[in-house]
Amino acid sequence: MSAAVPIHVVAALHDVPPSAALKAGLTREILWAVGLTSEPPNPTTWSALMTETTTDEPVDTSATGTAVTTWLADFQGALAARDIDAAAALFVDDCYWRDLVAFTWNIVTVEGVEGVRDMLGKTLDQVQPHDFAITDELGEAGGPTESWIKFETSVGRGLGHLRLRDGKAWTLLTTLNDLKGHEEPKRDRRPKGTEHGVVPNRQTWLEQRRREAQELGHVTQPYAVIVGGGQGGIALGARLRQLGVPTIIVDRNRRPGDAWRNRYKSLTLHDPVWYDHLPYIDFPPNWPVFSPKDKIADWLEMYTRVMELNYWDSTECKRAVYDKASNEWTVVVERDSVEMTLRPKQLVLATGMSGKPSLPNFDGMDVFTGDQHHSSEHPGPDAYRGKKAVVIGSNNSAHDICAALWEAGADVTMIQRSSTHVSKSDSLMELGLGGLYSESAIAAGMTTQKADLTFASIPYRLLHVFQIPVYDAIHERDADFYARLEKAGFMLDFGEDNSGLFMKYLRRGSGYYIDVGASELVANGDIKLESGVDVVRLTEKAVVLSNGKTLPADLVVYATGYGSMNGWAADLISPEVAAKVGKCWGLGSNTAKDPGPWEGELRNMWKPTQQEALWFHGGNLHQSRHYSLYLALQLKARMEGIPTPVYGLQEVHHLS
Ligand SMILES: Cc1cc2nc3c(=O)[nH]c(=O)nc-3n(C[C@H](O)[C@H](O)[C@H](O)COP(=O)(O)OP(=O)(O)OC[C@H]3O[C@@H](n4cnc5c(N)ncnc54)[C@H](O)[C@@H]3O)c2cc1C
Repeated sequence: MSAAVPIHVVAALHDVPPSAALKAGLTREILWAVGLTSEPPNPTTWSALMTETTTDEPVDTSATGTAVTTWLADFQGALAARDIDAAAALFVDDCYWRDLVAFTWNIVTVEGVEGVRDMLGKTLDQVQPHDFAITDELGEAGGPTESWIKFETSVGRGLGHLRLRDGKAWTLLTTLNDLKGHEEPKRDRRPKGTEHGVVPNRQTWLEQRRREAQELGHVTQPYAVIVGGGQGGIALGARLRQLGVPTIIVDRNRRPGDAWRNRYKSLTLHDPVWYDHLPYIDFPPNWPVFSPKDKIADWLEMYTRVMELNYWDSTECKRAVYDKASNEWTVVVERDSVEMTLRPKQLVLATGMSGKPSLPNFDGMDVFTGDQHHSSEHPGPDAYRGKKAVVIGSNNSAHDICAALWEAGADVTMIQRSSTHVSKSDSLMELGLGGLYSESAIAAGMTTQKADLTFASIPYRLLHVFQIPVYDAIHERDADFYARLEKAGFMLDFGEDNSGLFMKYLRRGSGYYIDVGASELVANGDIKLESGVDVVRLTEKAVVLSNGKTLPADLVVYATGYGSMNGWAADLISPEVAAKVGKCWGLGSNTAKDPGPWEGELRNMWKPTQQEALWFHGGNLHQSRHYSLYLALQLKARMEGIPTPVYGLQEVHHLS
């Protein structure tokens, strides 16, 4: 185990002097939250710790081993004896146990000793956990009170993470990593690729692939159908392929990657390359930090081929019905204009959380004679040089589209109805993501798997606490920028609790802009701004606002966001099933657009829903990469007939 990262190392990683790092608020909490130190802050002494900094003091690594090893031995002893009280007594009162499928066949965080007791009471007999140990498989966790751990269950092997406080568990992460007897064919289990010797009627790899493509969906049925072959469907498809789950991905687009190609032409990924790897194949080291949309599209297309996915392009899913008697879906698809039926056991909707456009319904939209479209339909700025454009909305798409229109010589006005969070991309990369996903993180020994698990190890209930200082630091660092934006009339926020962008993403999937330049145009007035207003109506040639102004327009873009993914279920299955599964995404934080009660995990994502055999998959590239593993294992287990009793199936509190 390594020592906690000293402040001068952090300062060097961030290319700032230590004093500036401290001034910027790089306290132990932030370092811990971004994965640069392992010493967890104690929430009860949060304010006191706010002023504390890391030191160069070496950590007694033998003590680390001792504390964690002792805890693991005690925990295992209690579990082996089925002594739930003894096991629960090993947790602090305000503990969090996040389980990704290993114990619960679900994605669940239980809180407090009672939560631990309940979970163990309902899962222990089935799971039979054993062989808990510290693992160096993920590299060093560092610090005296935390460690990467491994364990086994009756059916699988798991990885996890443990943070101790006062000798008891404060946060515990347990994740299922593979299923015994169904390990992926990789490393020393990789396929040979040929059969040496003399084989009558030998089939080449290509012939086998062609035969599979001819038969699957026609002669044989896939076990799973994934509707939507964007980055989400593709990542999940790759995992299922490696696990030997016969799967067809259907997408109505002509080519894999078209979900990105079809977006406005100036779009580049907002997240940096280190955050974006797909499972199995990392981007090469010379890949751009921010991938242009057509380049990421080409990568997805290549990936689909080399990962040998059964990808049906130009295939639209029309409808799906579940038959409880046969435990089977009837999925009607139209492939190259021919209707056909698939009968999978499992149906995954990977149709995109940024896929179902929310269009407003303003008076006069039917009389407006200019061009008007949702941001997802926006073709780019070329046709609008010298034209007047009104962009309704003030989040990511609105900013990107406004900037591209301005660059092309259009006269652009942004309509901002309510406040938006803005973070400069550089600041976000350095202070928000840098510790886990950056070149310097790699240099410090971080791997993608370790970064993903580190991120996953922070319970959602605590995440905002650790995000607040990051955004305080960003606020301070970019104070001039924010002042200029506000002076231009832009309504700014940092989230209801100042926890910034990532929490907004998790809570509501909207309400922010990662600034890559458009904000300067807003601040200096090049992009005109009408803020705190609503659209009253459209006329033939203008947009009328609630402040009485009339804006002449040749183009209106509705950058008004996207609806909940269960809207796809309503369209493809039925409104009843959509209501039965309820809203997707959001944590129940009781903040704007994320009503309570508290859920603890993202609603319906990557885990069992109230509709048997229906699953939702999606999110950004990081989430698609990481959580596709757990969804794939859940599907594989079902295919193999491994019992998968679900603990804590979520209740539905909101319909959309
Ligand atoms: C402007 C913008 C910028 C973004 N920047 C980033 C970023 O930097 N990084 C990031 O990770 N994410 C980013 N996102 C979010 C991004 O949309 C999603 O992360 C990503 O596209 C989700 O992938 P997905 O596979 O879940 O859905 P999508 O990419 O939306 O794919 C869904 C697919 O489902 C298909 N489909 C839908 N209905 C059917 C049907 N009935 N039959 C057949 N096929 C169907 C569609 O054709 C589509 O290909 C951005 C989103 C937007 C709008």
